[in-house]
Amino acid sequence: MALSKTDQQNYYNLSKGYEGEQLFDALLHNLECDCLVLNDLLLLVNNQTFQVDTLLIMNNRIHLFEIKNYTGDFYFESNQFFRKDRFEISNPLTQLQRTESLLRQWLIKFNYSIPIQASVIFINPGFTLYNAPLDKPFILPTQLNLLIKKLNSQQSILNKRYKNLAEKLVNQHISEHPLQQMPSYEYHQLQKGLKCGICESFSTSTTRYSGNVTCLNCGNIEKIETAVLRTLQEFRILFPLEKITTNKSYEWCNIAPSKKTMQRILGKHFKKIGTKRWSYYS
Ligand SMILES: [Zn+2]
Repeated sequence: MALSKTDQQNYYNLSKGYEGEQLFDALLHNLECDCLVLNDLLLLVNNQTFQVDTLLIMNNRIHLFEIKNYTGDFYFESNQFFRKDRFEISNPLTQLQRTESLLRQWLIKFNYSIPIQASVIFINPGFTLYNAPLDKPFILPTQLNLLIKKLNSQQSILNKRYKNLAEKLVNQHISEHPLQQMPSYEYHQLQKGLKCGICESFSTSTTRYSGNVTCLNCGNIEKIETAVLRTLQEFRILFPLEKITTNKSYEWCNIAPSKKTMQRILGKHFKKIGTKRWSYYS
């Protein structure tokens, strides 16, 4: 369905943020030191929740990383953060300081006294910061490799106490209800059909004999079975309480070649519950 302007912006920010975290995570795979990496924690201390993008636990030190996937030109002036067009955006340092302070309170609560080193990571190579201050914990795209080198050069052998800390952090993580953040939607509002797995276009056509789905937008060719399974997975995410039946799947995928094909795919990948008219798949 068409998203409202606000939801579109929200979606854009979320996917951009997620992409940034993945990029940083990939970079951390170059770490050779003995350390533990924890991503995306939501924690609670003194009635305040706080979100941690990435924590790196090393011997005698915790690195706290706030990741920003900004692209384009920005500048820093009197402790404020601006886009090149003078549009002020929230200073990532403010967020970092809050997270650091709450993390420190959290550690004290659980009897850990370990120094925290907090930094903002600008992960996107297309990011430029004019007037970048020397005394602020900003790590710019051109400094990322050096960061990994520095971390690798540190002697760190984690003892059990740090491994317990990592376990504690994971156990205390609050899982959010993803549905609360979703825009509201109803089945009849949503476009049905098999989307292309590459460009996400709904302009696809299926050929019964080849068993393929062809994208009319980008030309990608995919097995019907793979496309149907991906499309049904989306249905399950969108409507977790709905039962998957042959008719519903047929309608949701819209252009699957026949109900027989749909039944065969469902039978192969799902467990059939019930018989005849009242059956569904789980
Ligand atoms: Zn396509």
